[in-house]
Amino acid sequence: MLDARIPSGPIQQQWDNCRFEMKLVNPANRRKHSIIVVGSGLAGAAAAATLGQQGYRVECFSYHDTPRRAHSIAAQGGINAAKNYRNDGDSVFRLFKDTVKGGDFRAREANVYRLAQISLNIIDQCVAQGVPFAREYGGLLDTRSFGGVQVQRTFYARGQTGQQLLLGAYQALEEQIAAGTVALHIRSELLDVVIVDGRARGIVTRDLVTGHIECHAADVVVLATGGYSNVFYLSTNAKASNCTAIWRAYRRGALFANPCFTQIHPTCIPLSSEHQSKLTLMSESLRNDGRVWVPKKKGDTRAAKDVLENERDYYLESRYPSFGNLVPRDVASRNAKEVCDEGRGVGPHGQGVYLDFADAIHRLGLEAVREKYGNLFDIYERITGEDAYTVPMRIYPAPHYTMGGLWVDYHLMSTIPGLFVGGEANFSDHGANRLGASALMQGLADGYFILPSTVPDYLASTALDPVDVWHEAFTATAAEVRDRIAALVALKGKRSPDSFHRELGKIVWDNCGMARSDAGLRKALARIPELRDEFWHDLRIVGGDDELNQGLEKANRISDFLELAELMCIDAVHRTESCGGHFRVESQTPEGEAKRDDAHFSYTAAWEWKGSGQAPALHKEPLTFEYVPLSQRSYK
Ligand SMILES: Cc1cc2nc3c(=O)[nH]c(=O)nc-3n(C[C@H](O)[C@H](O)[C@H](O)COP(=O)(O)OP(=O)(O)OC[C@H]3O[C@@H](n4cnc5c(N)ncnc54)[C@H](O)[C@@H]3O)c2cc1C
Repeated sequence: MLDARIPSGPIQQQWDNCRFEMKLVNPANRRKHSIIVVGSGLAGAAAAATLGQQGYRVECFSYHDTPRRAHSIAAQGGINAAKNYRNDGDSVFRLFKDTVKGGDFRAREANVYRLAQISLNIIDQCVAQGVPFAREYGGLLDTRSFGGVQVQRTFYARGQTGQQLLLGAYQALEEQIAAGTVALHIRSELLDVVIVDGRARGIVTRDLVTGHIECHAADVVVLATGGYSNVFYLSTNAKASNCTAIWRAYRRGALFANPCFTQIHPTCIPLSSEHQSKLTLMSESLRNDGRVWVPKKKGDTRAAKDVLENERDYYLESRYPSFGNLVPRDVASRNAKEVCDEGRGVGPHGQGVYLDFADAIHRLGLEAVREKYGNLFDIYERITGEDAYTVPMRIYPAPHYTMGGLWVDYHLMSTIPGLFVGGEANFSDHGANRLGASALMQGLADGYFILPSTVPDYLASTALDPVDVWHEAFTATAAEVRDRIAALVALKGKRSPDSFHRELGKIVWDNCGMARSDAGLRKALARIPELRDEFWHDLRIVGGDDELNQGLEKANRISDFLELAELMCIDAVHRTESCGGHFRVESQTPEGEAKRDDAHFSYTAAWEWKGSGQAPALHKEPLTFEYVPLSQRSYK
């Protein structure tokens, strides 16, 4: 049985109790401890900067050429916090409840409550750093709404919230680099985790410029390496985002939780060509003012302006009158798919619905709409050539976020002692569906507040023998890494890494995407191992392993996606209920909503690697709901 180490006491006091009970490291002793943080996105930069500031010796790794390029920079819409500045009924408890319900009761209550509590500190921290959140005329911080809630608790910096938060975390990190507490390793990719006596004691990396394989030892390893939506090939994530760090840790014994819980975001620019390699998000904040509709008639190819008001179906507003266009993402995505499957989709391939700002422009004026969303309208115009101030945007769901990730306990420690996981890389607090603007909140809660308490507790309460990179575990792990790279380069097949990735992505999207069925998942489970086999025979990489070689980098990451995709389908096929983003067509209510099966699936599924070609073992963390009683979600 997995022990989540949830503290005792009423939920409101658990984090305080936990922090009080945790052991501390004397300031003078902190410099004796070394900590590796892999990742310098919001979660990693925040953790590295804070631990450095506390006085630990931190080494921070990133495959990017600067922390400012982490995928976190792409976040547009905002970050939630229960500040209740609007006096509209918000509270820590309401944010907690919305998040548990939004995740369709598949998240751990204790973690979610802590997240809601810490949300208050995050805004204060970022304002103190100078993050330029939007303000109202009187100077107070402004907020807006995101899906699945009825209050306005989302703080934002135009459509660049992630970028501004990342600049805050980056400058905190730079301060520690200058102070000598943090050493930054850029263009350095983790390819394995080193385990000594059952504990994580270091990593093996590849220098992406020279190809050198290097070993790094420490007392603790923190992974903050982001999510794995790129398993679908086409996603809103940065092209380089991948699963290698958490997958290699999984292969070393860290359990992987809920791998099939992925988020398909409803408002992305539709695919326009088979050759496309990336999908672009249009922030959910647009649903504050944009109205979603399709023609009532099937196969209606008239231009939007020619479809009269009474010929339009504002399907979210009519089906979900309480939440309207601001239903949670899983609900909005499924409904978009449904109307397109009925033949009522718009645009060149019929794979789109309108997001229309005509009413908002009429009500608020063009300048007010431009002020709020201008940069998003610019992105849209640059990609589609259409002016969304005069014609409605076309949007369609796309892979965006992964709720699954490495299993962690309340301390954010994985099942490998000494291996902590933060941000999107862990299985997080979002259950089966993440509410908008909650990922930045979770990443920064993990990085600025939770890891800086729990990592020192581990250091203070664990007797660690000195270990250096000459230890045999490092030599053996580095040899395995070298062999794997050499095997990839030695393949002299005919297919490019991208061609395998594209094919894999389509299998996962078709069978483990917005809707899943037993038959489809079994088809995918038959095809993925075949494709993996083809990859290991027919791959061709141009260039060698002792130079900058992006083909090799890609191939190495795709080799992990080819394994992860299978685990996602295994997880999805075993969970015969629908919940949140995991929609099993066999399990739906008469209205077509996700139908949970609490009697059989009220648990986190955590999978254990059992070796190549072996079935993974399932471990369960039972979920209990004491504070937010289990109920069928309704946004009507
Ligand atoms: C387009 C878009 C818009 C979004 N908008 C919002 C929003 O408005 N609000 C919200 O709450 N969330 C939003 N999200 C989600 C949110 O941005 C992410 O979940 C969050 O930023 C992830 O942060 P992270 O620190 O966990 O990971 P990342 O920012 O992905 O950082 C990962 C880091 O790990 C490093 N790394 C990864 N693997 C390795 C390796 N093997 N070796 C070395 N280094 C490695 C990378 O170099 C990078 O530094 C959005 C996501 C997208 C795609």
